[in-house]
Amino acid sequence: MQFDHYLDNARVAPNTGARIEVVDPSTGEPFATIARGDATDVQRAVSAAQRAMGNTLDGAWAKLSPVERSNLLFACAAAVSQYADELAQLEARDTGKALNTARTDAAVLARYLQYYAGCVDKLHGDTLPYPAGFTVLTVREPIGVTGHIIPWNYPMQIYGRSVGASLAAGNACVVKPAEDASLSILRLAEIAAEGGFPAGAINVVTGLGGEAGAALLSANRGIRHISFTGSTVTGALVGHAAAERHFPAVLELGGKSPQLLFDDADLDQALPVIVNAIVQNAGQTCSAGSRLLVQRTVYERVLDRLARQFALLRSGPPSMNLEMGPLVNAKQQARVRAMVERAQADGIRVAARGTIAAGASGAGYYQEAVLFRDVPPDSELAQEEVFGPVLAAMPFDDEDAAVALANGTQYGLVAGVWTRDGARALRLARKLQAGQVFINNYGAGGVELPFGGVKASGHGREKGFEALLGFTALKTIAIKHD
Ligand code: NDP
Repeated sequence: MQFDHYLDNARVAPNTGARIEVVDPSTGEPFATIARGDATDVQRAVSAAQRAMGNTLDGAWAKLSPVERSNLLFACAAAVSQYADELAQLEARDTGKALNTARTDAAVLARYLQYYAGCVDKLHGDTLPYPAGFTVLTVREPIGVTGHIIPWNYPMQIYGRSVGASLAAGNACVVKPAEDASLSILRLAEIAAEGGFPAGAINVVTGLGGEAGAALLSANRGIRHISFTGSTVTGALVGHAAAERHFPAVLELGGKSPQLLFDDADLDQALPVIVNAIVQNAGQTCSAGSRLLVQRTVYERVLDRLARQFALLRSGPPSMNLEMGPLVNAKQQARVRAMVERAQADGIRVAARGTIAAGASGAGYYQEAVLFRDVPPDSELAQEEVFGPVLAAMPFDDEDAAVALANGTQYGLVAGVWTRDGARALRLARKLQAGQVFINNYGAGGVELPFGGVKASGHGREKGFEALLGFTALKTIAIKHD
């Protein structure tokens, strides 16, 4: 299989003819190629998007009425549901995630598109009080051409929350998916075109981050806004480029999210959620609950129960639909293995490990789930994002100590609190440094709920109406009539 860019509603071969092999993470075998885009390809995509916008919002896409835009997004959501199985198969093969997880991702994508379709005709400005003789109003206009750098962990979902919101606000999009997860995104652009999106509204350039991704950020390309999800290191590059070129950037950069478990918590309710929060998508989730802080009075009991649950966790190919698939590529596998080995070499104890299923290929990028206990708060395992199914458990004595531990990393994406004490839950919700706090649940990731980080987890918000506002330029019009 050979996949080209998707620009101006057509498949377009790469300018240089260069291609990148697409590897199945469950076997390590290549099964397709994608186009290796360069600056010329990116410029072509941006020019297509600029034409769709027009010079004065008179392009084929920009001149659609809000209702027409909304209808196209609703139709796209319906088409995603219709093609959900095909999309899930593509994404599962490309990223290694269990087929059921990929099906869920397709359903969430459809929901994002529905949500933003429903927002289009509710997006409006205001009239503002001002001295007599004036009428002052604000209008929300599209920003122009928006760039979307999408990672490999949840391509469909992240496409939904960033491209869906940007289109709803009336912008045209240039998307650079991760080289390890481009296939579903290419198909989505094609599905949108089949559903009637004008040429240039959605353009997908595939390739390497350092080439096609970097080209998207270069000067004079015409990008007016960047939405990025990925590592803190690349996020800093994106933020730097945005500052130099004077365009806004939404940066979602992962985390080291804590779950705080108090001795009055309902353990039957909490423990399965805590396990799922770290093994979901094999731990390759920005909001993974990767630190577990447990009140010392129940620490041993909790560790004992968790260890039994971890021992039952299995990793296998997407078709087996086990708790976990492989990691996305050899680089991530090596990175996670190295972090696990360093932690053990530093004397941090493993409380339990999962297994790799008998049917899984030895050449696949599998990593069994690992539960570490008594993890020192200043260790790499407690401070750095592993991005694998590795949970760092540590005890605390009281509420203040729990808050200090929870806030004691560079990150601040999400946090969970498990307690039956309502006042404590509210106190902690206010004290925790995070963009989302979950009380007696974790990762309630509804499309309506604004999402994003503080500190090194990034800035700006995705999801919900908040994200939509971020994709608009607010114009104030002051009219003197007396
Ligand atoms: P990156 O941040 O490098 O990749 C994220 C996206 O950025 C990909 O689309 C990538 O493209 C693109 N990119 C890479 N370099 C550039 C560049 N110079 N200019 C513009 N775009 C670029 O993450 P990695 O894939 O290398 O993963 C490393 C670590 O990052 C993970 O272990 C994890 O800790 C974190 N991460 C966090 C994610 C999250 O959801 N918050 C998602 C993914 C990773 P390409 O893949 O083609 O290089």
